[in-house]
Amino acid sequence: MKNMSLRFFNTYSRQLEDFEPRDPASRKLDIYTCGPTVYSRAHIGNFRAYIFEDLLQRHLELRGYKVHRVMNITDVDDKTIRGAREAKIALQKFTEQFKQAFFEDIETLRIKRADEFPSATDQRYIDRMIEMINTLVSRGLAYQAEDKSVYFRINKFPDYGKLAHFDLTQLQSTGRVKHDEYDKEHIGDFALWKAWDEEDGDVAWESPWGRGRPGWHIECSAMATALLGDQIDIHCGGVDNIFPHHEAEIAQSEGVTGKKFVRYWLHCAHLLVDGQKMSKSLGNFYTLPDLLKKGYTGRDIRYALMRVHYRAPLNFTWEGMEEARQALARIDEWLVRLRETAGDKIDNKNVDLELGQQFEEALDDDLNISAALGFLFESIRETNRAMDRGELDAASAKAWLNWWERVNSVLALEIETAVVLPADVAQLAEQRENARREKNWKRSDELRDRILELGWETRDTKDGQKLAPHVKV
Ligand code: AMP
Ligand code: ZN
Repeated sequence: MKNMSLRFFNTYSRQLEDFEPRDPASRKLDIYTCGPTVYSRAHIGNFRAYIFEDLLQRHLELRGYKVHRVMNITDVDDKTIRGAREAKIALQKFTEQFKQAFFEDIETLRIKRADEFPSATDQRYIDRMIEMINTLVSRGLAYQAEDKSVYFRINKFPDYGKLAHFDLTQLQSTGRVKHDEYDKEHIGDFALWKAWDEEDGDVAWESPWGRGRPGWHIECSAMATALLGDQIDIHCGGVDNIFPHHEAEIAQSEGVTGKKFVRYWLHCAHLLVDGQKMSKSLGNFYTLPDLLKKGYTGRDIRYALMRVHYRAPLNFTWEGMEEARQALARIDEWLVRLRETAGDKIDNKNVDLELGQQFEEALDDDLNISAALGFLFESIRETNRAMDRGELDAASAKAWLNWWERVNSVLALEIETAVVLPADVAQLAEQRENARREKNWKRSDELRDRILELGWETRDTKDGQKLAPHVKV
């Protein structure tokens, strides 16, 4: 069986590259992932990015890496300040509610918590931002303009534009820099420190350049280097982060440390609605509670957001949600059958799980989840067929269950609790058991049909009847 090495598409080189971490012997990896801006509840487009990062971490762990991951919380920027002002409450109080909501949502979606969730307003990081800006100014890489804000001088950083593959002359102004462009030397220079203005209210910190607040980009450079050091293995985000945010992060971090900041840049494509990016500003978004209210579970949503390769755009549709539900029901049913077949078998015959191997190798190949899921469902089909014929022995069933443990450590899709039968179904099932004891086959069949109408499938085994959720195909 061929053994493929891990490889990822690096935005920096625009190529698939074999994965070589900084310190291969220790198997330790540092990953930085840009987190939410807490000015509203995150929408499921944001969660597509976080689920992709979760899949990345889980697969690296399956391959034996020890992942140390940091996800920042942007709790001060134009949007959070505006939101707090409109709500007439303190910035911290305003952002706190959305931080809480974010943690609830990642739990619902089974996204592993990062090891650290630094907040930009933590004084430790504000100090670090000021220190970095100081260094950049002393090196001529930054300057204070007439408006008292401090800007990064992109002309002094020759690599600027390499991540986004941009020609400097084509740079356009972006929404996240201060609007008054005339104070800057170059239209592409971005704010490191924004001088206080009235709209900021009481949101301000003292600095060598006067009262003000940090720019969004320096927040991430400061938190990443403070917690992970000068160099990190992988940095992720959505494609909209590439420019200017990540480009700026490289310029700031490397401008200070003189070392290559990130080895692999991974970016996920957007979640779309009718061909357009799901976003707060377009108003075409759903939050997790919106979908939960419609009866979908966290794992339905996880599956729906995960099933397409992270570099391909994914269109959000209700059919997609239904497909997710059906796919999960098929997995649930398969696991029930496998467990029945395996019985209490403990040893695991050495069976050739060729399809199982292919699942893992598909993920090695730049996290090709659609191919991996294809192999999973092929495995399910084949083993189900073998079980239909009574040809899957207990040891093989056990081997598949052991393999599923590995699969589920990456997908995190297994149903959480043992399936609980609704009371009406349980009652009918009991009546059917009695009918069968009395050899009343007609009544037994009638009851089976009634149970099916309620969405449950009955199977008769030598240990009595077993029930599982019915899968409509
Ligand atoms: P923000 O809170 O806007 O800074 O976004 C947080 C993360 O979500 C970033 O990594 C964005 O790139 C990502 N993101 C925002 N909208 C979408 C979307 N529609 N699809 C996928 N990722 C998104
Ligand atoms: Zn960031």
